[in-house]
Amino acid sequence: MSRRKIAAGNWKLNLSFEEAMQLGRSIANQEIPSGVEVILAAAFPYLKSLGEMAVPVQNLHIAAQNCSEHAKGAFTGEVAASMLNSIQISHVLIGHSERREYFGDTDNVLCMKLQQAFDNEINPIYCCGEPLRIRKSGDHVSYVKTQLEETIFKLDQDQFAKLVLAYEPIWAIGTGETASSEQAQEMHAAIREMISNQYSQELADGIPILYGGSVKPANAKELFSQKDVDGGLVGGASLKSDSFIEIINSF
Ligand code: PEP
Repeated sequence: MSRRKIAAGNWKLNLSFEEAMQLGRSIANQEIPSGVEVILAAAFPYLKSLGEMAVPVQNLHIAAQNCSEHAKGAFTGEVAASMLNSIQISHVLIGHSERREYFGDTDNVLCMKLQQAFDNEINPIYCCGEPLRIRKSGDHVSYVKTQLEETIFKLDQDQFAKLVLAYEPIWAIGTGETASSEQAQEMHAAIREMISNQYSQELADGIPILYGGSVKPANAKELFSQKDVDGGLVGGASLKSDSFIEIINSF
């Protein structure tokens, strides 16, 4: 079955406004290969301008890197999903390992954030993945299964169908160490089987599952050619237009 192909860049806590707009524009000026979607996850203050820049570009979407688990109220410094919706942002990253590790995004908080995203018509890009200790123990598949059971497997079928998943082994994020294409394929196939068991084969076949963890131009083609790998969530290599454009063209 042919699934959506997605190259998503996660700019994290990087780039000035000018740099972000320049990078966004240089990606928008490229011809995005047909059937490929590009998503740029930028810092909150840049989202509105990037979103306006992306409107006329087919298959280019702008994502927030986070949203509050709360709808509104006395939560100083937070950004609500409704606020993202009010500036026409279509996607949000939820469950990135950096949010889980440094900002206390527990499974319960992630469930609340997912609900906020759905309540405000924003499509979550849900991240999962195991730390090195778990990979070394050989328990990586059951670790990821528990992550899914505690969060996205609580969604109803209609909500689940709107997700993009990203498998990001923590030991490969920002380390320069990439999962081999066999390791990525093994986990992606396992996740698809879990979805099939939880929901249906049809849903499992339709959900895009991205790989994240030191994706770069040198390994993107091989990773994206795996049967169950539908693209990448890219950190470091999405910060330079040349390397990200090469990744976009790797499908
Ligand atoms: C990420 O932060 O989602 C990521 C995969 O980063 P990097 O590509 O730099 O490993």
